[in-house]
Amino acid sequence: MYRADSELPHSWEGRRRGGLPNPELRLITAGSALGMSLLYASGYFLPLLAPTGVYLLPTRSLFQAVVLPSAVVALAGTAGLLMIGALLRASRMPRSSATLLLLLLVPMTMIALKGILDVAGIDWQNRIPRTRELLSTQRAVKLLVGVGVAVGLWWFRGYLAKIGRLVASLGYAYTAFALCRIVFVCNSDPSPGGIFTSPALAAASPEFARPAAAPAATATSGIRSRRVVWVIFDEADFSRIYPATPVPGLDLPNFHKLAGAAVFATQANSPASATLFSLPALLTGSALASPGVSVSASGSLSIDTPNGTRIPFVEANTIFGALAGRGLTASVLGFYHPYCKLFALLRCDNFPWPGTTSVAAAFESNLPGIIAARSGHPDTWSEITERMLRLLPEYLARDDALTFIHLNVPHLPAAYADDRLHLAASPDPLVEYSRNLGVADHILGDIVRDLEGRAARHDLLLIVSSDHWLRNRWYQANQPEVERPVPFMVWKVGDTQGSVISQPVSTVHTETMVLEWLDGKITTESDIAEWWRGQTFDPTFIAPHT
Ligand SMILES: [Zn+2]
Repeated sequence: MYRADSELPHSWEGRRRGGLPNPELRLITAGSALGMSLLYASGYFLPLLAPTGVYLLPTRSLFQAVVLPSAVVALAGTAGLLMIGALLRASRMPRSSATLLLLLLVPMTMIALKGILDVAGIDWQNRIPRTRELLSTQRAVKLLVGVGVAVGLWWFRGYLAKIGRLVASLGYAYTAFALCRIVFVCNSDPSPGGIFTSPALAAASPEFARPAAAPAATATSGIRSRRVVWVIFDEADFSRIYPATPVPGLDLPNFHKLAGAAVFATQANSPASATLFSLPALLTGSALASPGVSVSASGSLSIDTPNGTRIPFVEANTIFGALAGRGLTASVLGFYHPYCKLFALLRCDNFPWPGTTSVAAAFESNLPGIIAARSGHPDTWSEITERMLRLLPEYLARDDALTFIHLNVPHLPAAYADDRLHLAASPDPLVEYSRNLGVADHILGDIVRDLEGRAARHDLLLIVSSDHWLRNRWYQANQPEVERPVPFMVWKVGDTQGSVISQPVSTVHTETMVLEWLDGKITTESDIAEWWRGQTFDPTFIAPHT
């Protein structure tokens, strides 16, 4: 079993130069461990520094979002690797265990490559075989591939160690690149903040609530002030909520009941096919044209309109600016977009795409899915749903002229719904989606009941819609995306008559309708239905990589 070191020339080299027992272990020097940890950190933090990443960051402070967590990940990773190295050196079989250590490099390098490809805007996810396809291959084939990889590693361990050291040095390149990018973003961002955001500067930036807000809703002279609750259920699909023929087992009583009481559109089109595009269009009230949205190198988002103009997605151009101009207040409970960073709101909570910007998220998101699932790693998507639903009653209870709520359901995955139903996850994404629709229906029921209890205090308008339909990528990924209707209901809380709009309508006009209703220009549900019948139809913008 034991082979003399003299059989392997590189071992001589190892002894002579580093004083370590073999070249594999020379990988674990302080320098290469730091390099590897930086490389690992880059997989998570590099995409945050891409233009869209900077836009989506919920905070203006790059120090808080990138620099500090990067440093913690790099230091913790370095310490961990050095500890593993020390343990291996002390072990009886340093050479074979060191080969195992090389395996660490493989995921680290892959994670780093993922980050680099994300930053470069290369759609890597569609170019590698899906995990599910890999896992579904025959056990014998998997075993054979596993053994092959292990033998290969053992055979070429000397060279792999050298390559490993080279790869580790890429981590230093990440630091240089990240620092340049951070300095660039901070220099091109005219607002206070950036890497050196101090609490005093931060307080002056719009990510914090407008301090002296005007008193709530005074647009009408009536006793009850007008108030709008606008709810976006992410990825809610009209054809699946209201199927032409009933689907056995799919019971959505609240969606159906509200459809009967509200102004109900049967052919409503969202402005775009993706969240990044659709929400800015809805909140600015402007339809989109190619390229839909543009994100500047410093992370400012603008929308591209059909008449060729580019409108910055900032408060002044959105419904929130229009409300502020009227002395009216607004609040947002939102998902994905950095609403609290972009707008001065009286109350705001926003939840970025799962796991953005925390040290724990950096560690967790870099774990391969299979390890994360088995280590009881919390499902961040479900956690967002839970946290939003905990906050929801506080938002419904507010007096603001507009409360905008953008929830991350029924968008897949469906772990939250599976847990609630005590069911194992289904391999069929359409089954999972139906369960999520059940959750959305439950939430809608809660919202309706809550608002009914508040109708004495406010003249309340509830708007329920979505940013896009259930997209092909979830269940037929090779089909090109086509526009499909989304739910759209406008309900004067308490009304029961309802009215149906069967002509195609574009939900992009919702922003204008909300303002006209708050201004008292339209009042009844029949006014609202009539108003929609007079609006132009703007086709849905199909976003790239939808
Ligand atoms: Zn969405």
